[in-house]
Amino acid sequence: MLDIKWIREHKEEVQRAAEQKGISLSIKDLLASDDRRRSQLQEIELLRQARNRLTRETNELIKHGKRDDADTSKAKVREVNRKLTVLEDGLSELEAELHKLLLLVPNITSSDTPDGRSDEDNVEIRRVGEPAAFGFEALDHIALGELHQIIDLPRGVKTAGSRNYYLKGAGVQLHRAVQQLAVDLLINKGFTLLEVPLLVRTAAMMNTGFFPAGEEQTYRISDEDKWLVGTSEVPIVSYYSNEIVDVSQPLKLAAVSQCFRNEVGSAGRDVHGLYRVHQFAKVEQVILCRASLEESERMLQELTQNAEELLQLLELPYRVMAVCTGDMSQKTYKQYDLESWMPSRQAYGETHSSSNILDFQARRSNIRYRDDQGSLNYCYTLNNTAVASPRILIPLLENHQEEDGAIRIPLALRPYMNGMDRLVPRI
Ligand code: AMP
Repeated sequence: MLDIKWIREHKEEVQRAAEQKGISLSIKDLLASDDRRRSQLQEIELLRQARNRLTRETNELIKHGKRDDADTSKAKVREVNRKLTVLEDGLSELEAELHKLLLLVPNITSSDTPDGRSDEDNVEIRRVGEPAAFGFEALDHIALGELHQIIDLPRGVKTAGSRNYYLKGAGVQLHRAVQQLAVDLLINKGFTLLEVPLLVRTAAMMNTGFFPAGEEQTYRISDEDKWLVGTSEVPIVSYYSNEIVDVSQPLKLAAVSQCFRNEVGSAGRDVHGLYRVHQFAKVEQVILCRASLEESERMLQELTQNAEELLQLLELPYRVMAVCTGDMSQKTYKQYDLESWMPSRQAYGETHSSSNILDFQARRSNIRYRDDQGSLNYCYTLNNTAVASPRILIPLLENHQEEDGAIRIPLALRPYMNGMDRLVPRI
């Protein structure tokens, strides 16, 4: 959510952001709605003043025994009250209409965000590591999963429908190992770990900017005001909703959670294997800091660096992409995606997403801090994946496979795999 006064002062910029992000919204209509609200409010104010004056006059008339005049004055007060009730009801409607429009207003994008319509227009910033050239016929993660009996897609579909899976044995160990490695990395960097609610109220989804646009992407518990989160960013940011926080040092929080997505907009895309599934685990990093562009840019680089460090520990080739305007969500000001090399695709695939949201979420969630002058301001919030599994198992299995079908376990993962250095095929 942006401040209405700010929107008024930057209407062209906000309209441009809506167009860049493919959001159908007229800022002119929104400001007209605000004009109607303001003039209604003014009228109400004038009537309230008139009522107060009339009430004072009535009291004076009663004091001086002028009963008839007092009755006439009372009747006038009743008439003003009647008008006020109508106008106040109208004001509530106008406020609701404006609020609905405000919820659609996108965040602006940073000046260094590339212009573009889709992920094809994202711009590569750097590459780290060389994709392996196999001297043998490499397998994809589905075949490797079957060979090692660690991924079972048919039984996932049998139990839960398409885009579902079972992990088994060493597959589960790997899945948990990458998460614990990410958690330990973040704890060493000063993050505080949270265990979070995964069923949240509509308000939490709305306040973190996932709703109203993303409602259809989200699983709802029928007959309850509860939704299954698609990312722990929602409960982590909401942890401080309606609070005044101390961000003299940036607040760094992380959570490990299951994420649920119905992927309604992805029909037919990535239907095979573990790339796009309905349920996955994610270690998420979130930072709340002061409302400073410089500080939040530093934090964005830090969050991105943490994810890069993890990919380096997993010994995976990757690249960092500056996400373009058209590939950004409503709430995002600046975004990097990290893409890991996936041999079966002969392409890089997104494994991490790092975003600076400015005060968009904090304004909706009412999370404020006191600055050095004692004034209250909304914080800036940022987030990034530390690791998302099972998607990360795709590059992990595929990049580290050997000719005999074995999979080399990267050094950093071995302590989390009971010291195992290779997975050897079961058949
Ligand atoms: P996001 O929270 O949308 O920025 O996604 C963060 C990361 O979660 C992505 O980079 C993927 O690694 C992973 N992810 C997102 N959606 C899915 C999905 N449907 N299935 C598997 N992994 C996903």
